[in-house]
Amino acid sequence: MHPFSFTKAADTRDALNAGRRGGRYIAGGTTLVDLMRETVERPESLVGISDLPLREVTVTERGGLRIGALASMAETAAHPKVRTLFPVISEALELSASAQLRNMATIGGNIMQRTRCTYFRDVTAACNKRDPGSGCAALKGRNRTHAILGTSEDCVATHPSDVAVAFAALEATVHLLGPDGERRVPFADFLLRPGKTPNREQSLKQGELITAVEVPALPRPLKSGYLKVRDRQSYEFALTSAAVALHVRGGVIQEAKVAAGGVGTVPWKLPAVEVYLVGERPSDALWAAAADHAAKGARPLEHNRFKVELLKRTVARQLRIVGGTR
Ligand SMILES: Cc1cc2nc3c(=O)[nH]c(=O)nc-3n(C[C@H](O)[C@H](O)[C@H](O)COP(=O)(O)OP(=O)(O)OC[C@H]3O[C@@H](n4cnc5c(N)ncnc54)[C@H](O)[C@@H]3O)c2cc1C
Ligand code: SF4
Repeated sequence: MHPFSFTKAADTRDALNAGRRGGRYIAGGTTLVDLMRETVERPESLVGISDLPLREVTVTERGGLRIGALASMAETAAHPKVRTLFPVISEALELSASAQLRNMATIGGNIMQRTRCTYFRDVTAACNKRDPGSGCAALKGRNRTHAILGTSEDCVATHPSDVAVAFAALEATVHLLGPDGERRVPFADFLLRPGKTPNREQSLKQGELITAVEVPALPRPLKSGYLKVRDRQSYEFALTSAAVALHVRGGVIQEAKVAAGGVGTVPWKLPAVEVYLVGERPSDALWAAAADHAAKGARPLEHNRFKVELLKRTVARQLRIVGGTR
């Protein structure tokens, strides 16, 4: 581990001042400390933000949710309003990591977590994300768990967060506070595809702090849920996953929000699936036909071709579960 200094921010202004001077925020520390131990990350100064008043989970005036960036994964998952209004968020969180990690880890830290690509975490391997211009060992290496959507010649790593898939499906907004004031970024623009600069992963500016994630109100009744397919049933990242929310009235689907995880370089919204569903009546045939659009544009690698079919089946199954025809 490289030497670093640590200060704890007493308040938001204190944190922003330290952030502006190049300090790196640390919340639960469950992933940043690992990366520092492995010398993948080498921040010179850490700014502890765990005492800032950013922990609240509230229902917005119109019936959406505002989740403070420092709310833990565990308390967010267990929050009665999250459970009743957007079960897809609770389920995505409860299927993540372990109980101990969820107690420490925060929502802001979760959406900022970095890829689990093994070459990224092995400082002896070529990795454009860790060391721009060095190459990508995964392209011709062990790429079974890598992305099939949103990849580039320079990086094929997945974004590993589960709850980010739910946020992408629900079209959440990330609230930021920085030296130039507040801004709101649609979730779709917050996490960046690798392109030619895989080392740039979010649209955060220097010193900006995530203060909250806001989930918009959606028409009710709304049924939602998260399905995660993985090599073992606990303590494992997704091979594929699907976040689904459906608003059905008069027997017809009025709104559909669908995104997939484990397959994209960012959580992968599925607009073609959503469009296919709206205006239709729920049926097993509909779920299968809609899910056929899930892998549009996929570019599988040598070892992850299975993800194309697995993605379609994951989406179809979760549509069936949420849509109530199983
Ligand atoms: C063994 C293991 C298994 C896991 N399994 C899963 C899983 O199945 N699914 C899943 O989704 N996740 C999984 N995780 C990841 C886990 O969810 C993250 O480690 C956790 O959410 C990070 O939150 P944190 O508060 O500890 O972040 P930290 O480690 O404190 O910070 C992470 C990053 O976020 C930045 N940051 C934190 N808060 C803010 C803020 N408010 N504003 C700006 N920047 C900020 C930090 O600077 C840092 O870059 C796993 C982790 C481990 C170690
Ligand atoms: S896939 Fe991305 S993170 Fe993995 S080795 Fe290639 S450049 Fe690095």
